[in-house]
Amino acid sequence: MASDLVIEAEGLRKSYRRTVALDGVDLHVKRGEVFSLLGPNGAGKTTTVEILEGYRRRDGGHARVLGEDPERAGASWRARRGVVLQSCDDVVELTVSECVRHFARFYPRPADPGEVIERVGLSEKAGSRIRSLSGGQRRRLDVALGIVGQPEIVFLDEPTTGFDPEARRQFWDVVRGLARGGTSILLTTHYLDEAEALADRVAVVNHGRVVETAPPADLGGRREAPATVSWSGPRGRQSEQTHQPTALVKKLEESFGGEVPDLTVARPTLEDVYLKMIGYSAKGEQK
Ligand code: ATP
Repeated sequence: MASDLVIEAEGLRKSYRRTVALDGVDLHVKRGEVFSLLGPNGAGKTTTVEILEGYRRRDGGHARVLGEDPERAGASWRARRGVVLQSCDDVVELTVSECVRHFARFYPRPADPGEVIERVGLSEKAGSRIRSLSGGQRRRLDVALGIVGQPEIVFLDEPTTGFDPEARRQFWDVVRGLARGGTSILLTTHYLDEAEALADRVAVVNHGRVVETAPPADLGGRREAPATVSWSGPRGRQSEQTHQPTALVKKLEESFGGEVPDLTVARPTLEDVYLKMIGYSAKGEQK
């Protein structure tokens, strides 16, 4: 395995009875990278992640995570990867601090529990019992447990589902902090703004296959796509697509003799290209 790859997966296959969940998934994640899996419900993201975490057996294909096959790797490998589970549900009478300290003991070189609690924004709740936490706060605690072992790679499967907007932004800072510290992250999310804000590269998964892997700004040819210039003119709202938006705006400025009313210049958003890739048309039909 090339040493700069923390995940190397080729041709992953998995079926559940007659359902083909993975039909040849290829993924290569570099050390220190935030890599996001995007895809509609049932696309195969969780199955992929669980195979890479070592929780699910694959039917075929090749997988290496931190240089080892997740199906055969032992306890020392498990301590090097962080998994975010709802792990504290059976210990709800513990306080946040007690719970994080408890889980820290499972690892050979844990982080300081107090620092981890601060990183996930739970310092004010450190002395509170887990059962008294809100849903979002519990999710933060799950993340704290996933990172207390100072893993080299963290798997985050829809980590911010149910978070309020402020908590999501705070969580993004946690992820950025981990990435700055050199931790690799595999993130699945349904929030395209989350992938855009955090991911170095994204892979779009559909029907058990990777459709494209690219940095969010390049996905689906976004960078080369024409811009849509829109403005309000004598004939109402008008739009034009162009590869030279600056020239068009200058022309409009001249023709209006100054400020162009309600001017906008837009490129296709990540959501636009994503929906196209998964075969969603404006009429709401899946191809
Ligand atoms: P979501 O965005 O809804 O979480 P996903 O991309 O994570 O979806 P998976 O959970 O990997 O998708 O599911 C892929 C396919 O495999 C789906 O058709 C799902 O119904 C099926 N599947 C997943 N787990 C099982 C299971 N334990 N038994 C049977 N079928 C399963």
